[in-house]
Amino acid sequence: MTTLDQFARNRLTEAESRHQRRMLVESAREGVEVMQGEDWYTSFACNDYFGLSQHPGVIGAATSALDTYGAGAGASRLITGNHPFYAPLEHALAAHCRKEAALVFGSGYLTNLGILPALVGEGDLILTDKLVHACILDGAALSGATLKRFRHNDVAHAQALLNEHRASHNRAVIVTDHIFSMDGDRAPLAELAALANSHDAWLMADDAHGLGFHDHEAPVDIWMGTLSKALGSYGGYVAASRTVIDYLLTSARSFMFTTGLPPANCAAALKALDIVKAEPERTARAQNLAVKTAKALGLPLPQSAILPIIYGDEEKALAAGEALKARGILAMAVRPPTVPAGTARLRLAFCSQHSDEQVEQLISALQSLKVAA
Ligand SMILES: *Cc1c(COP(=O)(O)O)cnc(C)c1O
Repeated sequence: MTTLDQFARNRLTEAESRHQRRMLVESAREGVEVMQGEDWYTSFACNDYFGLSQHPGVIGAATSALDTYGAGAGASRLITGNHPFYAPLEHALAAHCRKEAALVFGSGYLTNLGILPALVGEGDLILTDKLVHACILDGAALSGATLKRFRHNDVAHAQALLNEHRASHNRAVIVTDHIFSMDGDRAPLAELAALANSHDAWLMADDAHGLGFHDHEAPVDIWMGTLSKALGSYGGYVAASRTVIDYLLTSARSFMFTTGLPPANCAAALKALDIVKAEPERTARAQNLAVKTAKALGLPLPQSAILPIIYGDEEKALAAGEALKARGILAMAVRPPTVPAGTARLRLAFCSQHSDEQVEQLISALQSLKVAA
Protein backbone atom coordinates (compact mmCIF):
# COMPACT_ATOMS: atom_id res chain seq x y z
CA MET A 1 0.00 0.00 0.00
CA THR A 2 1.26 3.50 -0.81
CA THR A 3 -0.01 6.34 1.31
CA LEU A 4 -0.74 9.66 -0.32
CA ASP A 5 2.29 11.24 1.34
CA GLN A 6 4.57 8.39 0.21
CA PHE A 7 3.33 8.82 -3.33
CA ALA A 8 3.95 12.57 -3.23
CA ARG A 9 7.38 12.16 -1.62
CA ASN A 10 8.45 9.64 -4.28
CA ARG A 11 7.39 11.98 -7.05
CA LEU A 12 9.25 14.88 -5.45
CA THR A 13 12.40 12.77 -5.13
CA GLU A 14 12.17 11.85 -8.81
CA ALA A 15 11.71 15.50 -9.78
CA GLU A 16 14.69 16.46 -7.61
CA SER A 17 16.93 13.89 -9.28
CA ARG A 18 16.03 15.42 -12.65
CA HIS A 19 16.70 18.96 -11.31
CA GLN A 20 13.04 19.66 -11.98
CA ARG A 21 11.70 20.28 -8.50
CA ARG A 22 10.09 23.70 -8.20
CA MET A 23 9.96 25.97 -5.16
CA LEU A 24 8.05 29.11 -4.24
CA VAL A 25 10.13 32.11 -3.24
CA GLU A 26 8.45 35.16 -1.72
CA SER A 27 9.24 38.13 -3.93
CA ALA A 28 8.44 41.77 -3.28
CA ARG A 29 8.79 43.90 -6.38
CA GLU A 30 9.44 47.58 -7.00
CA GLY A 31 9.66 48.07 -10.73
CA VAL A 32 12.49 45.83 -11.96
CA GLU A 33 13.94 45.53 -8.44
CA VAL A 34 12.86 42.40 -6.61
CA MET A 35 13.44 41.51 -2.97
CA GLN A 36 13.88 37.84 -2.11
CA GLY A 37 14.90 36.97 1.43
CA GLU A 38 16.99 39.91 2.66
CA ASP A 39 18.39 40.88 -0.73
CA TRP A 40 17.37 43.08 -3.61
CA TYR A 41 18.02 41.98 -7.19
CA THR A 42 17.63 43.48 -10.62
CA SER A 43 15.06 41.27 -12.26
CA PHE A 44 15.07 40.07 -15.85
CA ALA A 45 12.39 37.57 -14.92
CA CYS A 46 9.16 39.63 -14.98
CA ASN A 47 6.64 39.87 -17.81
CA ASP A 48 5.46 43.32 -16.69
CA TYR A 49 7.28 44.63 -19.77
CA PHE A 50 6.25 48.26 -19.43
CA GLY A 51 6.06 48.49 -15.65
CA LEU A 52 2.33 49.12 -15.85
CA SER A 53 1.39 46.98 -12.85
CA GLN A 54 2.88 49.76 -10.70
CA HIS A 55 2.09 52.77 -12.88
CA PRO A 56 0.31 55.50 -10.86
CA GLY A 57 -2.39 55.95 -13.51
CA VAL A 58 -3.11 52.22 -13.57
CA ILE A 59 -3.18 52.01 -9.79
CA GLY A 60 -5.47 55.05 -9.73
CA ALA A 61 -7.91 53.44 -12.14
CA ALA A 62 -7.90 50.23 -10.10
CA THR A 63 -8.36 52.08 -6.81
CA SER A 64 -11.27 54.05 -8.10
CA ALA A 65 -12.95 50.87 -9.43
CA LEU A 66 -12.34 49.18 -6.10
CA ASP A 67 -13.87 52.11 -4.21
CA THR A 68 -16.92 52.24 -6.45
CA TYR A 69 -17.69 48.57 -7.06
CA GLY A 70 -15.86 46.65 -4.34
CA ALA A 71 -13.35 43.84 -4.32
CA GLY A 72 -15.07 41.15 -6.34
CA ALA A 73 -17.53 40.56 -9.18
CA GLY A 74 -19.74 38.37 -7.01
CA ALA A 75 -20.92 35.96 -9.71
CA SER A 76 -20.27 34.58 -13.17
CA ARG A 77 -20.44 37.20 -15.89
CA LEU A 78 -23.52 35.43 -17.25
CA ILE A 79 -25.34 36.00 -13.94
CA THR A 80 -24.58 39.35 -12.25
CA GLY A 81 -20.78 39.52 -12.53
CA ASN A 82 -20.69 41.53 -15.76
CA HIS A 83 -19.77 44.84 -14.10
CA PRO A 84 -19.46 48.13 -16.02
CA PHE A 85 -15.70 47.83 -16.59
CA TYR A 86 -16.04 44.90 -18.97
CA ALA A 87 -17.69 46.63 -21.94
CA PRO A 88 -15.14 49.44 -22.40
CA LEU A 89 -12.26 47.00 -21.89
CA GLU A 90 -13.63 44.56 -24.46
CA HIS A 91 -14.31 47.37 -26.87
CA ALA A 92 -10.70 48.56 -26.56
CA LEU A 93 -9.28 45.05 -26.91
CA ALA A 94 -11.37 44.38 -30.02
CA ALA A 95 -10.17 47.62 -31.59
CA HIS A 96 -6.58 46.81 -30.64
CA CYS A 97 -6.85 43.41 -32.37
CA ARG A 98 -8.75 44.86 -35.35
CA LYS A 99 -11.66 42.54 -34.64
CA GLU A 100 -15.37 43.18 -34.23
CA ALA A 101 -15.56 41.96 -30.68
CA ALA A 102 -13.63 40.64 -27.71
CA LEU A 103 -14.42 38.60 -24.61
CA VAL A 104 -12.52 38.77 -21.32
CA PHE A 105 -11.92 35.55 -19.38
CA GLY A 106 -10.56 34.94 -15.87
CA SER A 107 -6.98 34.44 -17.12
CA GLY A 108 -5.03 33.67 -20.26
CA TYR A 109 -4.91 30.07 -19.13
CA LEU A 110 -8.69 29.90 -18.78
CA THR A 111 -9.07 31.55 -22.19
CA ASN A 112 -6.98 28.89 -23.89
CA LEU A 113 -8.68 26.16 -21.90
CA GLY A 114 -12.06 27.37 -23.14
CA ILE A 115 -11.59 28.24 -26.80
CA LEU A 116 -10.51 24.97 -28.43
CA PRO A 117 -13.10 22.72 -26.75
CA ALA A 118 -15.79 25.15 -27.95
CA LEU A 119 -14.53 25.02 -31.54
CA VAL A 120 -13.46 21.44 -32.14
CA GLY A 121 -14.01 17.95 -30.74
CA GLU A 122 -13.75 14.31 -31.66
CA GLY A 123 -13.27 13.85 -35.40
CA ASP A 124 -11.71 17.32 -35.77
CA LEU A 125 -8.07 18.29 -36.20
CA ILE A 126 -5.85 20.70 -34.22
CA LEU A 127 -2.46 21.60 -35.65
CA THR A 128 -0.07 23.44 -33.31
CA ASP A 129 3.51 24.58 -33.43
CA LYS A 130 5.70 22.27 -31.29
CA LEU A 131 6.55 25.15 -28.93
CA VAL A 132 3.09 26.56 -28.16
CA HIS A 133 2.33 27.43 -24.56
CA ALA A 134 1.22 24.59 -22.27
CA CYS A 135 -2.31 25.97 -21.87
CA ILE A 136 -2.99 25.62 -25.60
CA LEU A 137 -2.07 21.95 -25.32
CA ASP A 138 -4.31 21.61 -22.27
CA GLY A 139 -7.21 23.15 -24.21
CA ALA A 140 -6.46 20.83 -27.14
CA ALA A 141 -6.45 17.76 -24.87
CA LEU A 142 -9.73 18.84 -23.29
CA SER A 143 -11.36 19.23 -26.71
CA GLY A 144 -10.89 15.57 -27.67
CA ALA A 145 -9.82 16.55 -31.21
CA THR A 146 -6.83 14.90 -32.91
CA LEU A 147 -3.67 16.90 -32.13
CA LYS A 148 -0.74 17.12 -34.56
CA ARG A 149 2.28 19.33 -33.87
CA PHE A 150 4.47 20.84 -36.56
CA ARG A 151 8.16 21.68 -36.15
CA HIS A 152 8.77 25.13 -34.75
CA ASN A 153 7.79 27.84 -37.27
CA ASP A 154 8.00 25.26 -40.07
CA VAL A 155 5.12 26.09 -42.43
CA ALA A 156 6.13 23.34 -44.88
CA HIS A 157 5.81 20.77 -42.10
CA ALA A 158 2.40 22.19 -41.16
CA GLN A 159 1.39 21.87 -44.80
CA ALA A 160 2.62 18.26 -44.94
CA LEU A 161 0.57 17.42 -41.84
CA LEU A 162 -2.52 19.05 -43.35
CA ASN A 163 -2.00 17.17 -46.61
CA GLU A 164 -1.84 13.95 -44.65
CA HIS A 165 -4.60 14.48 -42.07
CA ARG A 166 -6.99 17.23 -43.20
CA ALA A 167 -9.22 15.08 -45.41
CA SER A 168 -9.96 12.53 -42.70
CA HIS A 169 -11.17 15.18 -40.24
CA ASN A 170 -14.20 17.41 -40.12
CA ARG A 171 -13.19 20.86 -38.78
CA ALA A 172 -9.54 21.93 -38.51
CA VAL A 173 -7.79 24.73 -36.63
CA ILE A 174 -4.15 25.84 -36.65
CA VAL A 175 -2.90 27.31 -33.37
CA THR A 176 0.36 29.12 -32.72
CA ASP A 177 1.90 31.57 -30.30
CA HIS A 178 2.46 34.94 -31.97
CA ILE A 179 5.63 35.57 -29.92
CA PHE A 180 6.95 32.34 -28.41
CA SER A 181 7.07 32.71 -24.65
CA MET A 182 10.35 30.91 -24.03
CA ASP A 183 12.12 31.83 -27.30
CA GLY A 184 10.99 35.36 -28.08
CA ASP A 185 10.73 34.69 -31.81
CA ARG A 186 7.69 35.35 -33.95
CA ALA A 187 5.38 32.99 -35.84
CA PRO A 188 5.00 33.39 -39.63
CA LEU A 189 1.34 34.40 -39.29
CA ALA A 190 0.75 35.51 -42.88
CA GLU A 191 2.01 32.18 -44.24
CA LEU A 192 0.04 30.21 -41.67
CA ALA A 193 -3.09 32.20 -42.55
CA ALA A 194 -2.64 31.39 -46.24
CA LEU A 195 -2.12 27.74 -45.36
CA ALA A 196 -5.24 27.69 -43.19
CA ASN A 197 -7.19 29.34 -45.96
CA SER A 198 -6.13 26.83 -48.60
CA HIS A 199 -6.93 23.83 -46.37
CA ASP A 200 -10.30 24.95 -45.04
CA ALA A 201 -8.88 25.49 -41.57
CA TRP A 202 -9.13 28.32 -39.02
CA LEU A 203 -6.16 30.15 -37.53
CA MET A 204 -5.77 31.13 -33.89
CA ALA A 205 -2.79 33.06 -32.46
CA ASP A 206 -1.77 33.52 -28.83
CA ASP A 207 -0.55 37.08 -28.37
CA ALA A 208 0.40 36.83 -24.67
CA HIS A 209 3.90 38.22 -25.32
CA GLY A 210 3.14 40.25 -28.45
CA LEU A 211 0.84 42.95 -27.07
CA GLY A 212 2.40 46.31 -27.79
CA PHE A 213 5.25 44.81 -29.82
CA HIS A 214 3.49 43.89 -33.04
CA ASP A 215 0.39 44.83 -34.95
CA HIS A 216 -2.54 42.64 -35.91
CA GLU A 217 -2.27 42.86 -39.68
CA ALA A 218 -2.19 39.13 -40.43
CA PRO A 219 -5.62 37.65 -41.20
CA VAL A 220 -5.87 35.62 -38.00
CA ASP A 221 -9.41 34.37 -37.24
CA ILE A 222 -8.98 34.31 -33.48
CA TRP A 223 -6.56 36.33 -31.37
CA MET A 224 -6.17 35.54 -27.72
CA GLY A 225 -4.02 37.22 -25.13
CA THR A 226 -3.57 38.07 -21.50
CA LEU A 227 -4.14 41.12 -19.32
CA SER A 228 -1.45 39.78 -16.98
CA LYS A 229 1.80 40.56 -18.76
CA ALA A 230 2.34 43.80 -20.70
CA LEU A 231 -0.91 45.17 -19.22
CA GLY A 232 0.23 44.47 -15.68
CA SER A 233 -3.16 43.29 -14.41
CA TYR A 234 -4.83 39.88 -14.47
CA GLY A 235 -7.21 38.16 -16.88
CA GLY A 236 -7.31 36.87 -20.45
CA TYR A 237 -9.15 37.73 -23.64
CA VAL A 238 -10.16 36.48 -27.05
CA ALA A 239 -10.89 38.73 -30.04
CA ALA A 240 -12.76 37.59 -33.15
CA SER A 241 -15.87 38.33 -35.19
CA ARG A 242 -19.00 39.32 -33.26
CA THR A 243 -20.60 35.98 -34.13
CA VAL A 244 -17.66 33.94 -32.86
CA ILE A 245 -17.55 35.94 -29.64
CA ASP A 246 -21.31 35.49 -29.14
CA TYR A 247 -20.84 31.77 -29.66
CA LEU A 248 -17.88 31.53 -27.24
CA LEU A 249 -19.73 33.32 -24.45
CA THR A 250 -22.50 30.77 -24.85
CA SER A 251 -20.27 27.72 -24.98
CA ALA A 252 -16.75 28.14 -23.54
CA ARG A 253 -17.01 26.34 -20.21
CA SER A 254 -14.04 28.14 -18.64
CA PHE A 255 -15.91 31.39 -19.33
CA MET A 256 -19.33 30.26 -18.18
CA PHE A 257 -18.60 28.39 -14.99
CA THR A 258 -16.32 30.81 -13.18
CA THR A 259 -16.70 34.13 -11.41
CA GLY A 260 -16.07 37.37 -13.29
CA LEU A 261 -12.83 39.28 -12.69
CA PRO A 262 -12.74 41.89 -9.92
CA PRO A 263 -13.70 45.34 -11.33
CA ALA A 264 -10.27 46.71 -10.35
CA ASN A 265 -8.48 44.21 -12.63
CA CYS A 266 -10.50 45.29 -15.63
CA ALA A 267 -10.18 49.00 -14.88
CA ALA A 268 -6.39 48.57 -14.50
CA ALA A 269 -6.07 46.67 -17.78
CA LEU A 270 -8.13 49.26 -19.66
CA LYS A 271 -5.96 52.11 -18.37
CA ALA A 272 -2.81 50.12 -19.15
CA LEU A 273 -3.93 49.48 -22.73
CA ASP A 274 -4.46 53.23 -23.16
CA ILE A 275 -0.92 53.86 -21.95
CA VAL A 276 0.63 51.22 -24.23
CA LYS A 277 -1.06 52.87 -27.20
CA ALA A 278 -0.25 56.42 -26.17
CA GLU A 279 3.41 55.74 -25.29
CA PRO A 280 4.96 53.47 -27.94
CA GLU A 281 8.41 54.44 -26.64
CA ARG A 282 7.89 51.93 -23.80
CA THR A 283 7.63 49.08 -26.29
CA ALA A 284 10.55 50.32 -28.35
CA ARG A 285 12.78 50.55 -25.30
CA ALA A 286 12.00 47.04 -23.98
CA GLN A 287 12.71 45.51 -27.38
CA ASN A 288 15.82 47.63 -28.02
CA LEU A 289 17.33 46.49 -24.73
CA ALA A 290 16.75 42.85 -25.70
CA VAL A 291 18.32 43.44 -29.12
CA LYS A 292 21.29 45.31 -27.63
CA THR A 293 21.98 42.42 -25.24
CA ALA A 294 21.67 39.83 -28.00
CA LYS A 295 24.15 41.77 -30.15
CA ALA A 296 26.62 42.10 -27.28
CA LEU A 297 26.46 38.36 -26.65
CA GLY A 298 26.42 37.29 -30.29
CA LEU A 299 22.95 35.73 -30.02
CA PRO A 300 20.17 35.70 -32.65
CA LEU A 301 18.25 38.98 -32.51
CA PRO A 302 14.92 38.68 -30.65
CA GLN A 303 11.64 39.92 -32.15
CA SER A 304 10.24 40.87 -28.76
CA ALA A 305 11.48 41.66 -25.25
CA ILE A 306 12.34 38.00 -24.59
CA LEU A 307 15.89 36.71 -25.06
CA PRO A 308 16.73 33.04 -24.41
CA ILE A 309 20.25 31.83 -23.69
CA ILE A 310 20.13 28.11 -24.32
CA TYR A 311 22.48 25.91 -22.27
CA GLY A 312 20.83 22.58 -23.06
CA ASP A 313 21.61 20.94 -19.80
CA GLU A 314 19.41 21.65 -16.72
CA GLU A 315 22.34 21.88 -14.33
CA LYS A 316 24.19 24.37 -16.54
CA ALA A 317 21.14 26.60 -16.86
CA LEU A 318 20.58 26.49 -13.11
CA ALA A 319 24.28 27.21 -12.46
CA ALA A 320 24.16 30.23 -14.79
CA GLY A 321 21.06 31.51 -12.95
CA GLU A 322 22.80 31.07 -9.57
CA ALA A 323 25.95 32.81 -10.81
CA LEU A 324 23.89 35.80 -11.95
CA LYS A 325 22.03 35.83 -8.65
CA ALA A 326 25.35 36.05 -6.81
CA ARG A 327 25.90 39.26 -8.81
CA GLY A 328 22.52 40.67 -7.87
CA ILE A 329 20.68 39.72 -11.07
CA LEU A 330 17.58 37.55 -11.33
CA ALA A 331 17.07 35.60 -14.54
CA MET A 332 14.75 32.64 -14.87
CA ALA A 333 16.33 29.25 -15.50
CA VAL A 334 13.71 27.40 -17.54
CA ARG A 335 13.79 23.63 -17.59
CA PRO A 336 11.75 20.82 -19.10
CA PRO A 337 8.84 20.27 -19.17
CA THR A 338 8.35 24.02 -19.68
CA VAL A 339 10.77 23.76 -22.64
CA PRO A 340 11.70 20.65 -24.69
CA ALA A 341 14.24 18.22 -23.23
CA GLY A 342 17.83 19.29 -23.93
CA THR A 343 16.97 23.02 -24.28
CA ALA A 344 17.20 24.23 -20.68
CA ARG A 345 17.91 27.93 -20.75
CA LEU A 346 18.01 31.30 -19.10
CA ARG A 347 15.05 33.33 -20.20
CA LEU A 348 15.71 37.06 -20.03
CA ALA A 349 12.74 39.41 -20.15
CA PHE A 350 13.53 43.09 -20.74
CA CYS A 351 11.33 45.89 -19.47
CA SER A 352 11.12 49.52 -20.49
CA GLN A 353 12.19 50.56 -16.98
CA HIS A 354 15.52 48.73 -17.02
CA SER A 355 18.24 51.37 -16.97
CA ASP A 356 21.12 51.29 -19.46
CA GLU A 357 23.41 50.63 -16.53
CA GLN A 358 21.41 47.61 -15.38
CA VAL A 359 21.56 46.12 -18.85
CA GLU A 360 25.33 46.78 -19.06
CA GLN A 361 25.71 44.95 -15.74
CA LEU A 362 23.73 42.02 -17.09
CA ILE A 363 25.82 41.86 -20.25
CA SER A 364 29.15 41.96 -18.44
CA ALA A 365 27.95 39.38 -15.90
CA LEU A 366 26.91 37.03 -18.72
CA GLN A 367 30.17 37.61 -20.56
CA SER A 368 32.18 36.67 -17.50
CA LEU A 369 30.16 33.55 -16.67
CA LYS A 370 32.13 31.23 -18.86
CA VAL A 371 29.27 28.77 -19.00
CA ALA A 372 29.14 27.89 -22.66
CA ALA A 373 25.66 28.46 -24.04
C1 LIG B 1 1.36 33.49 -19.81
C2 LIG B 1 0.81 32.86 -21.03
C3 LIG B 1 -0.52 32.43 -21.07
C4 LIG B 1 -1.40 32.42 -19.85
O1 LIG B 1 -1.78 33.69 -19.47
P1 LIG B 1 -2.16 33.99 -17.96
O2 LIG B 1 -3.00 35.21 -18.03
O3 LIG B 1 -0.89 34.18 -17.21
O4 LIG B 1 -2.94 32.80 -17.46
C5 LIG B 1 -1.01 31.97 -22.27
N1 LIG B 1 -0.24 31.88 -23.36
C6 LIG B 1 1.06 32.26 -23.36
C7 LIG B 1 1.86 32.16 -24.60
C8 LIG B 1 1.61 32.76 -22.18
O5 LIG B 1 2.89 33.11 -22.16
